[in-house]
Amino acid sequence: MLEDLKALVELAKIDILARDLEAELKSAPKRLEELQNDVDRLEELLTAEQQQLEEATNLYQAQEEGIKEQNQALARSKSKSAKARTMREADAVEKEMEVIRRHLKERESERERLKEAIDRRGAVLEQHKKEFEQLVAIVQEEEKTTKTRLGELETQKNRVLAGRDEQLNKIASPLIKRYDRIRSKRGGIGVVKLNGDCCGGCHMILPPQQVNAVQRAETLEQCPRCQRFLFDPETLGKDDDQTSE
Ligand SMILES: [Zn+2]
Repeated sequence: MLEDLKALVELAKIDILARDLEAELKSAPKRLEELQNDVDRLEELLTAEQQQLEEATNLYQAQEEGIKEQNQALARSKSKSAKARTMREADAVEKEMEVIRRHLKERESERERLKEAIDRRGAVLEQHKKEFEQLVAIVQEEEKTTKTRLGELETQKNRVLAGRDEQLNKIASPLIKRYDRIRSKRGGIGVVKLNGDCCGGCHMILPPQQVNAVQRAETLEQCPRCQRFLFDPETLGKDDDQTSE
């Protein structure tokens, strides 16, 4: 059979393997990227929650400060009340103290509300921090796995491509160009098996004389529809035992 065809078949085997390895090399880091995005999102959420907690704590401190001031004002009013000489003066101080007590009560209940909010947010933040740490551990694990897998794939790809030059040397360069053109248009596959009387690539039924020609393997045959080179695995098997898979 034609040496060109034999070499083309070998070349096509190599290219398909390399293409599949290349695809996995591209897709393997995808899961890692997704996980990393999750980490980033969770980190943003944590920062926002941390900020809210700080704001609530600041408000709480402001209320504390306010309560202290109101208590001081109350103490001042009390001493004024003790010094009051007339009923009118005593009444005025009493009214003043009522106002202060009302403000004090409002501030105390606000402080209570803030305390509850701070406790609640603090608990949620702790929970989210734990989840974050777990996710980071998962990502680190995934990073290791991906790195190992990518290394394996690279090694396999290099091994597969090592045999490519040897095949290229056996084929005339115009034919290689033709093959490259076809496979670039046809999903990376430039050589296909004869499947009964059909093209193994696009499944078109081939004219009987072309089926015979493919089986004889004395000429280079291309599918009239998809242009791929055709070969008969049986002819190839009889001709050269080394090519059996
Ligand atoms: Zn075809």
